[in-house]
Amino acid sequence: MFDVIVVGAGPTGLMLAAELRLHEVRVLVLDRDAQPTRVVRSLGLHARSIEVMDQRGLLERFLEHGKQRPVGGFFAGIDKPTPARLDGAHGYVLAIRQPVTDRLLAERAVELGAELRRGHEVVGLEQDDTGVDVTLADGTTLRSRYAVGCDGGRSTVRKLLGIGFPGEPAGVETLLGEMEVDAPPETLAAVTAEVRKTEQRFGFLPLGDGVYRVLVPAEGVAEDRAVAPTIEEFRQRLRAVAGADFGVRSPRWLSRFGDATRLAERYRAGRVLLAGDAAHVHPPTGGQGLNLGVQDAFNLGWKLAAEVSGWAPDGLLDTYEAERRPVAADVLDTTRAQMELMSAEPGPRAVRRLLAELMDFEVVHRHLIGKITALDVRYDFGEGHELLGRRMRDVRLERGRLYELTRAGRGLLLDQTGRLSVGGWADRVDHVVDVSEELDVPAVLLRPDGHVAWVGADQRDLLDHLPRWFGAA
Ligand SMILES: Cc1cc2nc3c(=O)[nH]c(=O)nc-3n(C[C@H](O)[C@H](O)[C@H](O)COP(=O)(O)OP(=O)(O)OC[C@H]3O[C@@H](n4cnc5c(N)ncnc54)[C@H](O)[C@@H]3O)c2cc1C
Repeated sequence: MFDVIVVGAGPTGLMLAAELRLHEVRVLVLDRDAQPTRVVRSLGLHARSIEVMDQRGLLERFLEHGKQRPVGGFFAGIDKPTPARLDGAHGYVLAIRQPVTDRLLAERAVELGAELRRGHEVVGLEQDDTGVDVTLADGTTLRSRYAVGCDGGRSTVRKLLGIGFPGEPAGVETLLGEMEVDAPPETLAAVTAEVRKTEQRFGFLPLGDGVYRVLVPAEGVAEDRAVAPTIEEFRQRLRAVAGADFGVRSPRWLSRFGDATRLAERYRAGRVLLAGDAAHVHPPTGGQGLNLGVQDAFNLGWKLAAEVSGWAPDGLLDTYEAERRPVAADVLDTTRAQMELMSAEPGPRAVRRLLAELMDFEVVHRHLIGKITALDVRYDFGEGHELLGRRMRDVRLERGRLYELTRAGRGLLLDQTGRLSVGGWADRVDHVVDVSEELDVPAVLLRPDGHVAWVGADQRDLLDHLPRWFGAA
């Protein structure tokens, strides 16, 4: 029997599997597709996800495959330089194609000991007091103590649990693909500039060797978006929208996506949880979906591991939904706002011009970019120091730097006083005595996801706070 079955080997499921393996949880990841998809959806990681990779020692691998781009123009595509003084060491977008991100995360999960089985579609779920029976399309049943649906926007797990997915259905659909194009680059650039005056869902992004990433509005909304469009559909739509098909041919892959915005009513039903697109969907504007899913997994992994290991305090697992669902709700709202700002109608265009002016005020721009990068996320841990509930940025220490101490995914007491102790929690919480010129508090207690759980200098107060996140001594 497995401890956890993760349904879906997208970025969310793979990140979760890796996090669980840090704590020796026996993990099986199942994916319906026999091979990883070639479709390139996400094009990048934002600052908080880059930090997450750094916290787990994966940053080098990602930097090797990505390019650093400015984050300034990301909010609704309003062209601005990256604001100065972003809180953190990674004030850029790491441009990296989703299949590469997925591959790096799969390698990491498997390296750590997760079992990954592709070509296994989950079609049924039954749970009782001790575990979950997961049924596959071939009739096999597998049992685990917990299961997590990371199976994307059309999540079978969510449907099997009967969890509602309210929100707005897709109103428009967009065709996306990579293909060769005959027309010269100057023509494509000029046409793109002209069409985008009134239609943002259009473009030819050069990828080299005459291959382009092509984006064009579909005619309506397909009954079944899982059915890929044909190259002929691209030609027709290009002719309809831009007057020519530009000689598009030899597609590498073709896909379609909609603009539905939905949030799961709950993230948990008993022993089964939801994460990533299975729990929330929104249009790709701002480039946040993959980032949100990876960060869901980062929040959930250690909590579920604590539950499996038997030391989780009461209610710890429920803090996953309590913390992450409001973050997703905020991303959905920010995305809705960006979609309005990208409309070609005169009213929204006027609001966009006004907002572009306001973004010249550094504080406004930083606020909006904080939402895109997720550096502004603060979980509600109650009243207290301004760091409480926020993720701790990386800081230089006398001996190294903070994120180098968080590789193992354990709790961490960073103690500048040298007088504190983690007492009976040493098996779950590392105690590091070191100092940093960038840290003006005596000591911080970090959860395994790097969020600040306590700030202070008082041993008794620390011992009062440890059980909330790390259970009984
Ligand atoms: C055009 C486009 C551009 C985007 N750009 C960005 C961007 O720049 N930045 C960003 O952060 N996000 C972006 N996104 C969003 C991002 O692609 C998704 O949010 C992300 O892939 C979600 O990851 P996931 O692991 O939750 O789900 P998915 O990536 O959808 O993975 C789900 C997995 O579950 C498997 N599965 C499904 N059903 C079953 C089943 N019954 N049994 C077993 N396996 C199953 C699937 O095969 C799949 O591998 C974009 C999306 C689109 C459409």
